[in-house]
Amino acid sequence: MDEHDLLATARVYAIPTVTRFRGISIREGVLIQGPRGWGEFCPFPEYDDREAERWLATALEQAVAGWPEPVRDRVPVNVTVPALDPEHAHAMVTGSGCSTAKVKVAEHADSLAQDQARVEAVRAALGTGGRIRIDVNGRWDLDTAVQNIRALDNAAGGLEYVEQPCGSLEELAALRRRVDVRIAADESIRRADDPLAADLTEAADIAVIKCTPLGGVRQALRVADRTGLPCVVSSALETSVGLAAQLALAGALPELDFACGLGTLRLLGGDVVGPDQAFWPVDGWLPVPRTPPRPDPQALDTFSMTDPDRTAWWRERLARTHARLGTSTQPW
Ligand SMILES: [Mg+2]
Repeated sequence: MDEHDLLATARVYAIPTVTRFRGISIREGVLIQGPRGWGEFCPFPEYDDREAERWLATALEQAVAGWPEPVRDRVPVNVTVPALDPEHAHAMVTGSGCSTAKVKVAEHADSLAQDQARVEAVRAALGTGGRIRIDVNGRWDLDTAVQNIRALDNAAGGLEYVEQPCGSLEELAALRRRVDVRIAADESIRRADDPLAADLTEAADIAVIKCTPLGGVRQALRVADRTGLPCVVSSALETSVGLAAQLALAGALPELDFACGLGTLRLLGGDVVGPDQAFWPVDGWLPVPRTPPRPDPQALDTFSMTDPDRTAWWRERLARTHARLGTSTQPW
């Protein structure tokens, strides 16, 4: 796809989030259209151009090349619970229909008591048969992680796993020798200089794989294979257009032992596709799409970016990232 075609179809969107999530209250990105359908370019604003390249490769794979064949028709998903008070966390889990919940913790340095209350509320909502995993986003040092994981494992009545409790692979490996709860690596993979080279042998039991920041479904399958670990596919807070690629990845993984973190549409206050094509989980499941969903013209108008400076910023970012990727290579 040349730059002219890319920019001619580009639609910059801005969708408010329902609650603040990883520090953002408006999700922004660009939708592009290619011969295979629509793709989504939505690297977080603070990411540099080098990191954004992989996000564009994912959008181009979806719009130009299409995805590899899936091996399953549907995937189980978890409900993702942001840093809510216990009452709202309980209601969110009850309303989700999911039997697995991923609970965000460690929003602040002294949030342990709030995290315990949230995890207890989620357990009450799920019942004893449900599974609870927590996501720390690398915010604990080693000793804090040891203490807090024990406390939250107790509050949860057993954790399925803890996602990225510390920042570095060295800390994860040391932690793994000191706690019994399984450790999942997320940022350690997707933000590595070379995700294919990340050695998780000592550091993790589970790999969290996201195709959106890894450069597409094919590249994410390579990374998943290289980790040698069971994988969980998780979202990067995309609209249904970008979620489609993540579902294509979850559909194509040879093994899928855990619920995926792809029931995240509820964190956004809207979507760019119509309700019939949106990826809302039903009874904890989402379908694996064969082709990307089409944006709904009315929804596109509703969530079209209105700030001209932000629109220009995104279009320039798209053009710049596209120039870095180069037109002669197929990045996926
Ligand atoms: Mg994570």
